[in-house]
Amino acid sequence: MSKSWQTRLMHPDVTLPEGYRSLVTPVYRGSTTIFPRAAAVTDRWDQERIGYTYGLYGTPTSLELAARICELEAGRYTMLTPGGQSAISLIDFALLSAGDHILVPRSIYGPNRLLSKALLARFGVTTTFYDPLIGDEIASLIQPNTRLVWTESPGSVTMEVQDVPALARASHARGVTVVLDNTWAAGVLFDAFAHGVDVTMQAVTKYIGGHSDLLLGSITVRDESLYERLGAARQVVGCAVSPDDCSLALRGLQTLAVRLSAVEDSALAIARWLAQRPEVERVLHPALPSCPGHEFWKRDFSGSSGVFSFVFKSGPTRGQVHSFVDALRLFKVGYSWAGTTSLAVAYTMSDTARPRYDHRLVRLSIGLESTRELIADIEQALTTFPAKAFDGSGGTTK
Ligand SMILES: *Cc1c(COP(=O)(O)O)cnc(C)c1O
Repeated sequence: MSKSWQTRLMHPDVTLPEGYRSLVTPVYRGSTTIFPRAAAVTDRWDQERIGYTYGLYGTPTSLELAARICELEAGRYTMLTPGGQSAISLIDFALLSAGDHILVPRSIYGPNRLLSKALLARFGVTTTFYDPLIGDEIASLIQPNTRLVWTESPGSVTMEVQDVPALARASHARGVTVVLDNTWAAGVLFDAFAHGVDVTMQAVTKYIGGHSDLLLGSITVRDESLYERLGAARQVVGCAVSPDDCSLALRGLQTLAVRLSAVEDSALAIARWLAQRPEVERVLHPALPSCPGHEFWKRDFSGSSGVFSFVFKSGPTRGQVHSFVDALRLFKVGYSWAGTTSLAVAYTMSDTARPRYDHRLVRLSIGLESTRELIADIEQALTTFPAKAFDGSGGTTK
């Protein structure tokens, strides 16, 4: 059959030399996946086992990223989601039903807390928020209908390091599944499965991505039935990921070790410098004894990353803390940490069940700038406080 030029646009007869090899995983794009014959058509999601069926379930680019994260986290199965928050919601959608109860630490990532309060509640799932440092006393909060214990270590913003093995032992004794948000440790500085976790997720957006230019999440499990439930939910929720973003994350993986090691050193130096400043009440860095749960970090983690918080002494108003942040020149103000540029965000803690840091807490994400210049930047910004700002008169949240 001779083909018109119009048909040739879709069905060319060109050939290319074979044998091309590079170090880079190609970006395989595709919604449609070609089946060899009519009888082979199937809409199953578990492509790792049965081969390719549809772009929604991944292309070789995303399957390679998933497999590499799985290998790093010593899991058995990893699936990718469009962001860290969608990994969180997918876990809840997959593993919960109306009438179930979950336990979530008060230090959990904000949108995870909101998911419980604003959405799971509508579907008949109840949540008890627990003290992140509760340890094995979690047993007293487990109800007959408790299905999941969420953990995040260290917690978002207030940085409490959790006794995950104790939480896991107490939960497993009652048949409850333990989930960990392992984003701070990039999935590598804390070995989730060795410490009793059943489901681990991370925002790949953060350290694996590493350059503030993509959004992805991952969920990793060892258990076959958890994988089946998560995969089936992922199909109907429709968690598509971009192969281009996966390609960037694969690039990020190659430099993860050197970036982590650089931000670990820099963040520690800055945290120690802040700890001896007269304006600072407390530095919440897991590797410093002033951080709640520091002993669990020491026991369970193989290192620290570049995100930590510090709390000013009482005295300054919220406006004065904001002026300090605004005076920083190298630190930019923004969410989604773990990129190469340092960030600072001031928080006001309004949950009275959480530590009373009021409006005095600032979270830093340390990037790859010179440590000396980052310290100098903080030092010059501290001069914006009025001379008698730290009079110890107690903070207000005005
Ligand atoms: C950023 C973050 C998430 C969410 O990740 P996104 O990719 O932004 O959706 C989840 N957990 C923690 C601890 C995070 O810091």
